[in-house]
Amino acid sequence: MARFIFITGGVVSSLGKGLSAASLGALLQSHGYTVKLRKLDPYLNVDPGTMNPIQHGEVFVTDDGAETDLDLGHYERFTDVSASKFDNITSGKIYQNIISKERKGDYLGGTVQVIPHVTDAIKDFILNLTEDVDFLLCEIGGTVGDIEALPFFEAIRQLRNELESNSCLFMHLTLLPFIAAAGELKTKPTQHSVKELTSIGIQPDIIILRCDRDIPDDERKKISSFCNVPFSRIIPAVDVGNIYDVPMHLHNNGLDKEVLKIFNIYDDKSKPNFEKWDQISLNSSSLEDTVNITIVGKYIQLKDAYKSLDEAIYHGGLINKVKVNVEWLDSELLENSDPINYLNKTDAILIPGGFGKRGSKGKINAIRFARERKIPLLGICFGMQMAIVELSQNLLKLKQANTTEFGDTSEPVVDLMTEWKKGQEIEKRDVNTNLGGTMRLGAYEAILKKGTRAHKIYNKNIISERHRHRWEVNIKYKEQLEKVGVVFSGISPDGKLPEIIELEGHPWFVGVQFHPELKSRPFHPHPIFISYILAALEKSRLV
Ligand code: GLN
Repeated sequence: MARFIFITGGVVSSLGKGLSAASLGALLQSHGYTVKLRKLDPYLNVDPGTMNPIQHGEVFVTDDGAETDLDLGHYERFTDVSASKFDNITSGKIYQNIISKERKGDYLGGTVQVIPHVTDAIKDFILNLTEDVDFLLCEIGGTVGDIEALPFFEAIRQLRNELESNSCLFMHLTLLPFIAAAGELKTKPTQHSVKELTSIGIQPDIIILRCDRDIPDDERKKISSFCNVPFSRIIPAVDVGNIYDVPMHLHNNGLDKEVLKIFNIYDDKSKPNFEKWDQISLNSSSLEDTVNITIVGKYIQLKDAYKSLDEAIYHGGLINKVKVNVEWLDSELLENSDPINYLNKTDAILIPGGFGKRGSKGKINAIRFARERKIPLLGICFGMQMAIVELSQNLLKLKQANTTEFGDTSEPVVDLMTEWKKGQEIEKRDVNTNLGGTMRLGAYEAILKKGTRAHKIYNKNIISERHRHRWEVNIKYKEQLEKVGVVFSGISPDGKLPEIIELEGHPWFVGVQFHPELKSRPFHPHPIFISYILAALEKSRLV
């Protein structure tokens, strides 16, 4: 039976609960344990798929096609354990399931209530498929005191009673703010947050204090005494420069030791293996070259909107010993202005995933600039679709060429697929289908063409990558595009859906219909990003 660690947050959101959970997972792995991480999200959307990335950040897609919270990306990157649709749930989904059961009459005349029906559904979700792991780490989104999160707190409170003794741990993360005018760190918000938590029956076992500076022992003692948690279990988590330093930072402050002690499994003779974490810290402080990459996108106000992309670029830089400076450029700036004003110093251009017409012309202009000036270009998903539009408009001279995402056109070079194959099954949709959960989602295979750049990059004939899109490059234009140098280097096994395109005679011009960033991990950088950063490095050496 797994041991359960629940991670809650207080005072404010965005304190890094997800990173702390992921880091603790990684530390427990270093002690030889197996882990699984889950996230409970209190909002009413059924999943984050329909939310604007500027509000919620990136939608992280799992192999099995779930659209999930971006924290699952941290979990995967830190623990190298692939997440699944069983690892993220929202209040919306729980209510949807309960209400559809109620409509079917499954409750046999009973009154359906938050307790026990909603809390039971939450507990079932937490306990599901946990037999095969040593630890399940489960994070509750939002902060304690949020009305919508109450059923989740109630469910974990009940679980502590219902599970075997010594198999549950509550870890609470709070902010320790520094008040400049007083020149002091303030413990009161933490005290209030823990009071809130205990008022709903949860006494934390460990408190993690997020702070922008070193925390004196006096402050820790105060919190220990007011919050009823031993001093050694008040763990400082001070801002670190690099997120991959967080596991060792928490280890040095005693987190893993205290966790194992609480579960009565701490052995002071055992030798955990932190080699890879020490190594990554070392690598990140010994970068030899620098390249500049410009990401031309629409959701640039919020870095979290492209979280995995940011990480994948970092991983690709690290393995090449390159520091990558990323500039985020609003594509609308390139609509009516010569791209040279913004892109003349860049070593590579990246067009990420996106939705909708706004800003698309700027992306097309950036792609044309990269093509004509021979600047390495990576187009991801929407970025690949825009590359096809650019190549069709300017090389094939099809002035009407466009994606039908923007409306009907006589040259639909990117079109809505109404039917496609997932394994042996046929999936279908049309323009009237609901938006939620109906994209081509999750892992799909592609066959790579020998002798192409893609084949060299992967060194494989068949790959599997994660998707999240509704439109596809229209295979009907393949022959025409091939005549002007476009190479269809990756195609779906049934030969109908272009998965990777590249351009002959260009140093590095690649479009991918999937999201390679979702599978990049610090210890296994994605080959597309390794190659892309290398191309940027070569470009930087030319000037
Ligand atoms: N809007 C495009 C589509 O739905 C691309 C989506 C994306 O970039 N993830 O096909």
